[in-house]
Amino acid sequence: VVPSVAMRPLLMIPGPIEISPAVQAAFGGPPTSHVAPDFIERCGRSLERMRAVWAASSDSQPFILAGSGTIAMEMGACNVVGPGDRVLLVNTGFFSDRMATMLRRRGATVDEVTAPVGHAPSLDAVRQALEGGDYRALFATHVDTSTGVRADAEGLARLANERELISVFDGVCATGAERFEMEAWGADVYLTASQKAIGLPAGLALLVMSPRALRAREALAQPPPMALDVQEWTPIMRAYEERRPSYFSTPATNLVSALDVGLGEILETEHRGHEGIEARWSLHAAAADAMRAALSSLGLSLLPEANLAANTLSAVRYPKGVDASLVGAIKAAGVVVAGGLHPACKAEYFRVGHMGHSATQREHLLRTIEALGSALAGCIAGVDGDAAALAAGAVLDGRQ
Ligand SMILES: *Cc1c(COP(=O)(O)O)cnc(C)c1O
Repeated sequence: VVPSVAMRPLLMIPGPIEISPAVQAAFGGPPTSHVAPDFIERCGRSLERMRAVWAASSDSQPFILAGSGTIAMEMGACNVVGPGDRVLLVNTGFFSDRMATMLRRRGATVDEVTAPVGHAPSLDAVRQALEGGDYRALFATHVDTSTGVRADAEGLARLANERELISVFDGVCATGAERFEMEAWGADVYLTASQKAIGLPAGLALLVMSPRALRAREALAQPPPMALDVQEWTPIMRAYEERRPSYFSTPATNLVSALDVGLGEILETEHRGHEGIEARWSLHAAAADAMRAALSSLGLSLLPEANLAANTLSAVRYPKGVDASLVGAIKAAGVVVAGGLHPACKAEYFRVGHMGHSATQREHLLRTIEALGSALAGCIAGVDGDAAALAAGAVLDGRQ
């Protein structure tokens, strides 16, 4: 018997996250063959739904693989870049560092544009760097989960597109929650994992590639590892979309069934007059605004610069006199949040996820704020958790 969410702590970290009952039911079904007709239907529909969630063109190619976000990053990187290629990486934190290491291991020369922790390099700085080198690709992290900083993905994608450079965006903490218009902005690779804003358990690597990205793979002198090669996977994904059986490497069948349901929920969202993925973006912006109203009412401040703060998580500085033991006190009050992650300052802040299913659940957001309020009240006199919850509620109701 699975304990109900009222009896166990609420999982409000930046992934894995709480999942909806329908997603959990789909995931918990009996195992199925990867060539069973109903599985083929669910997988084919998931690929079609990915294009809608990614706002990608009809000639883009979605991929669903068993794996984590890091596998999706590796697949995105090694199919468009080969040994000796020069790439520019916009570095906003921990996961940008990881991508730089991956690219160097692939034999690429990686130039980085950096910014202080909590900031992002300006578009001008990136433009200038691009002028200084003969680059093959531009890499960026859409939302850096270590700092809660959101990059200007549209600006970066358009900069790369104007120069006919491949652009690759790590969307692991963003896809399905933060605005990303793959086709309109001319982005080439947008990747994520199932346990973040897509709203599934961990275990799927998800990416969509543009026709230009697929051509970049064809032009590589040194192929990527076989298990990550889009040339192996493209015929398989096409077969599923055409509702034909195929096999290269067994898909995570239960997770793909859950993906069909999870993407369906995303596309059925309605919010403030919007529908589909637009509504999902709008809903996450409202949840983030509500969380920020509560945090500010509690006297807390964010690690990222205000105009760069992501909608999927909040990276919050510990107030004076409070340390990382606050995370344990919040858990004792019924909500799991995460500690800091950026090596330069991880003892100075904690992180609260507010994406996916929980962004749709007022009760999850308010329970999180109440737990935070009561944990803080144990350290600081005069903290008013009720006022913080009221401030958040007003934003969620559109009254503020
Ligand atoms: C979580 C995350 C990853 C890594 O995903 P794993 O599933 O842990 O491998 C990569 N990039 C970003 C931005 C993330 O948030």
